[in-house]
Amino acid sequence: MSSFFIAYSDPLFSIIVFFVIIFMIAFFSYWWNKYRYSEDTKYLANFLDQFSTLPSKEELRVLISSGDLSEKSWLLLATSYYKNGDYEKSIEIYNELLKVCNHENKLETMYLLGKTYFKAGFLERSKQIFLEILKTTPRTPEALKYLLLIYEYMRNYQSALDVLEPLDELNKDIALDTIYLQTLALLNESKYSPQEKAILLLSSYKKHHQLAYMTFEYIFRVNPTLAWENFDNSKSALLSDILWRVEQKDLNLDIISQNGYLRELYTARGDVELAWSSIVFELDILIKLQGKANATLSFEYICENCKKVYPFAFYRCTSCHTIDTSRVEWSLSKDYYKDFSQENNSFQ
Ligand SMILES: [Zn+2]
Repeated sequence: MSSFFIAYSDPLFSIIVFFVIIFMIAFFSYWWNKYRYSEDTKYLANFLDQFSTLPSKEELRVLISSGDLSEKSWLLLATSYYKNGDYEKSIEIYNELLKVCNHENKLETMYLLGKTYFKAGFLERSKQIFLEILKTTPRTPEALKYLLLIYEYMRNYQSALDVLEPLDELNKDIALDTIYLQTLALLNESKYSPQEKAILLLSSYKKHHQLAYMTFEYIFRVNPTLAWENFDNSKSALLSDILWRVEQKDLNLDIISQNGYLRELYTARGDVELAWSSIVFELDILIKLQGKANATLSFEYICENCKKVYPFAFYRCTSCHTIDTSRVEWSLSKDYYKDFSQENNSFQ
């Protein structure tokens, strides 16, 4: 007992007790801060989760019918889902809105729903929506245009042509659409052979001078001789990628030698030696390389109207739906075909 009091009165003991108390305070303070931080983080994560996860169909139904948000706000939200490519959520909102909204917003919502169905690839549902809109308001050009696109995508060209009539009555320019749909109908017509189709396409082109790319792309594919005989020199640059892919055996040297652009193009490809330079940078480089490097042209396609770039040629832009606005752009690239054939030859 006395030894305890001796120890208690010992200054060393007091220092130890002092440090123990400091350590305990520091430990609890550290533990408390850590606990608070984890609680705060958990709360923040839960709060942010509400925005990163989409509401379920049932939640949407409850939210929309409660009327806490205006219909305009829901339409804006659905449009932003549409722009981000979340068509499913956008469709759910439109469908729920249609169950509650007043007549004024109904047609607007139906139009947006039809457009979203179209974009998502639900053509039949989209068609039904636009037909319903046109039943009550037949003079709606936007709905008619979508109906035309739907019939075109469904390859029902006659119905698409029928839609042009009311558009014509609404003073819309339907000339190019008519030729385009007639051309598509012809290309998909089974009663004509490819050779007959080529002749019919050519006679249509000579009449309208429209759809040069679509026309010559087909004729060069099925009958290169006919394509060269009727070649439209004014479209040489537009048809560059088609001409670049024509096989050497199918070339018409008479026509090539009389056309400055074709002389440069086929000299660059190495088929002839009829040009020494070109104002087109890529052709100029290829002409000067004289086949000493594995270089070739590669192509991509830009819509002249909306500037969207595609890796393949198109007749109607899938983004802005304009016809014949595909313009070819080229660049130099490695010739993998040449590489491959050289490797194969080295094994022989
Ligand atoms: Zn476009």
